[in-house]
Amino acid sequence: MTDPRVHDVVIVGAGPAGAAVAARLHQHGVRDVVVLDRYDFPRDKPCGGGLTGHIDEALAAVDLQLTVPSVASPAATVRFGSFERTVTMGRPVRVIRRIEFDASLVEQVRAKGVEIRTGVAVDELAVAGDHVALKLGGGGQLAAKIVVGADGAASVVRKHLTGNAKALPHRLFMAELPAAAAATVTPAGALRGDAMVYDFTAMAEGLRGYVWLFPVAGDRVNVGLMHYPSSRRGGPELLALLRKHLEPYGVALPAKGSRGWPVWGYHPSAPVSAPRLLTVGDAAGIDGLTGEGIAVAMEQAQVAGDAIARALSTGEVGFAGYRRALRKAVVGRELALDRHLARLLYQHGPAWQRWLSLVLFDPDVLEMYAARVAGTEVLADQKARLWGALVRHGFAARRRRRELTAAVAR
Ligand SMILES: Cc1cc2nc3c(=O)[nH]c(=O)nc-3n(C[C@H](O)[C@H](O)[C@H](O)COP(=O)(O)OP(=O)(O)OC[C@H]3O[C@@H](n4cnc5c(N)ncnc54)[C@H](O)[C@@H]3O)c2cc1C
Repeated sequence: MTDPRVHDVVIVGAGPAGAAVAARLHQHGVRDVVVLDRYDFPRDKPCGGGLTGHIDEALAAVDLQLTVPSVASPAATVRFGSFERTVTMGRPVRVIRRIEFDASLVEQVRAKGVEIRTGVAVDELAVAGDHVALKLGGGGQLAAKIVVGADGAASVVRKHLTGNAKALPHRLFMAELPAAAAATVTPAGALRGDAMVYDFTAMAEGLRGYVWLFPVAGDRVNVGLMHYPSSRRGGPELLALLRKHLEPYGVALPAKGSRGWPVWGYHPSAPVSAPRLLTVGDAAGIDGLTGEGIAVAMEQAQVAGDAIARALSTGEVGFAGYRRALRKAVVGRELALDRHLARLLYQHGPAWQRWLSLVLFDPDVLEMYAARVAGTEVLADQKARLWGALVRHGFAARRRRRELTAAVAR
């Protein structure tokens, strides 16, 4: 289908990022907006479904609501071998199912009067003078003054901005299973009904990331694994690690049914805009430390929506300041800090032990991170506390490293 008009804005992708940009633009009174998605909704998306504590503000800021069932998880259990520690969060993480959550956002945005065309894929784009021309799957065309890439990890807009730049992606795998499969809890009872589990034990076998188990509504459990790309690991190898490290929880990962997804981590100097183009959400990069991206996408969407509204009213469509605005927003500062932390914690070679032992054994670090996840504190503003933890670690590192080694030897 070819649409001869030049719209003010076309948003490619109706996931959390695209829905939130559309809602933000609606708040600004921008009405000539078309959202496209290659799939019809409800559509599923491989995800842990954990909405961190920021989500309430992020949704409220763009006038959207959480309307689908969720499990409130008020605590996180962090494990490494026989070591286990549970931290409570000031505000719970809400675990949703993406098939329901994303469809509900699309419904809410449609109800505002925003045009969302589903089952329409963007194959190519070209910036041509005063507009961006989009070539659609099936041969149609569409044009807009501004195009937003909210099209996730395999973003065509991101590819247009980054060219052939080579970078290894994070790799994530997940599966949703009946909770009965996880009925046998760990020796210390880690898989309490409502606690999320982050298990780093597989780092001793080369994983650079963690295995998770999250409770899901309807007596189910969402399990998965994230691997940071400091070393290259194949899908079968990562799935074998996931399978092995779910066993202590009594979870048997079925031979089929786990879904993988490569995603790029946020980098503060990676291109996120060009004249008439910008990216948001996974197209701009996920949290490198945790792989989180839903609340992140919705927080970035506010920055993107504000920049677009300004560009439409001034005619300045270069978006030269967008990367900096993203970076300076709270979400950008947290992402930049997590990128540093990920490079330390998930590095190739033995030094990861120094950093993991700091995370696990320092009396304050996990609490600080729990507050960041809960959204009750901005970790990037906790520099003095972080430095304090580093100084303590200077004195305790050897002992803690021995404890770490002992935790997997037992
Ligand atoms: C296994 C796994 C577990 C995760 N767990 C969590 C978690 O627990 N918590 C959390 O916060 N984050 C998690 N994430 C990250 C989270 O899923 C993403 O950050 C989030 O989906 C980003 O939203 P988005 O709108 O940017 O992209 P998406 O949700 O991917 O949406 C992009 C949309 O664009 C559409 N699209 C793509 N290309 C085109 C095209 N060419 N034309 C038209 N439409 C197109 C797609 O159909 C899709 O609907 C996880 C990711 C993975 C892979």
